[in-house]
Amino acid sequence: MALIIEKFSFGVGDRFAHQGKAQLAAIMKAAEQGVEIVPVWNKSNREHQTIGSEIASCRTAADAAVKDLGWKHSHYVDADHINLKIVDPFLSNSDFYTIDVADAIGTPADAAEVDAFIDSIPELIGSLTIPGIDGPLEMTRESIAATANQYLKAVKLAGEIYRYIASKNGEGTFVTEVSMDETDSPQTPPELLVILAALAQEKIPIQTIAPKFTGRFNKGVDYVGDVAQFEKEFEDDLAVIAFAVEKYGLPENLKLSVHSGSDKFSIYGPIRRALAKTGAGLHIKTAGTTWLEELIGLAEADGPGLELAKEVYAKAFENSAALCEPYATVIDIDADQLPSPEEVNGWTASQYVNALRHDPNHPEFNSSFRQLLHVGYKIAAKMGDRYLNMLVQCEESISRNVTENLFERHLKPLFLD
Ligand SMILES: [Zn+2]
Repeated sequence: MALIIEKFSFGVGDRFAHQGKAQLAAIMKAAEQGVEIVPVWNKSNREHQTIGSEIASCRTAADAAVKDLGWKHSHYVDADHINLKIVDPFLSNSDFYTIDVADAIGTPADAAEVDAFIDSIPELIGSLTIPGIDGPLEMTRESIAATANQYLKAVKLAGEIYRYIASKNGEGTFVTEVSMDETDSPQTPPELLVILAALAQEKIPIQTIAPKFTGRFNKGVDYVGDVAQFEKEFEDDLAVIAFAVEKYGLPENLKLSVHSGSDKFSIYGPIRRALAKTGAGLHIKTAGTTWLEELIGLAEADGPGLELAKEVYAKAFENSAALCEPYATVIDIDADQLPSPEEVNGWTASQYVNALRHDPNHPEFNSSFRQLLHVGYKIAAKMGDRYLNMLVQCEESISRNVTENLFERHLKPLFLD
């Protein structure tokens, strides 16, 4: 029997693989309150490289947390944002594959291929009524050709990667996601429909799809964009998915995957409402800020923990250009808002915590300070055991913050309110 992921799944995992239990505890709290969400541990190749961790360590941390807490439901390990070049080391330890084809978006397809594709989906040309979408979608041969030129190559590549994984691990042994989020322009609902038709023709049994949504998804801070427009497009995407599942025989549990870049609080309400209205499932990745909860926990512990958290900031400040470079398109740091290391060195524990903790309404919250630390995990990685030992020493305040953050600020507004 094929491996089918549950209706609600939540991306967890953390840079240093020390907070597995604290994260799972939040998911168990949601289960106690009646919502079953399954954890999907993820850690991208980029994170592994920055930290110098073994790919397989993600599986070890996940399994250990599940065993220690006696979690009875499923859990998964996600080979996050893989392609043919980097997938091999994930094959022995992952059962969820996020196939990233964003780089192939925009590579024009052969004219003959585009024509043949359009001929295979005549039902999409003209006025198309989709249940759940106000007014018909209007598509023409030309508009579909434009979408095909943009995405057909990427879809074919996704097929190639899928078949490679299946040839190694066996069909039905893993969950397949296709991601197109790390690209410049968002995909509109009509584009998503054309993409899904193409994915179905490639016979990829996708269970989750990660489009790029409208608006900015900066790392570790809230959504920037038109929330009402997001809500409408999100609902239209759900309608398009339901339609494509029926029309093209895609897996019935196919659901949206939101690569949130963490902490997109202002779209949680719209997402929750849309799920309630349609009964749709959801996969959401928002794991990246667990590392910031570690810093908050260190600072809260005061003494040597706070000292280390200050040292991380000072070094991140010194190296900010290099740390920000790989994340340039997904952070907006205002250098004028960054406190000097001297200033931070004079802060109390609560000043540090208030500046960092993601409470946008708090007068001391500093979004630039937060974003710099968010991309600054390399500094902690370089500290090696000194950092890891301090995590153990300050475990009480850290795990409390990790669990509370995930439960109160993420799971509750998304699934329980
Ligand atoms: Zn992504």
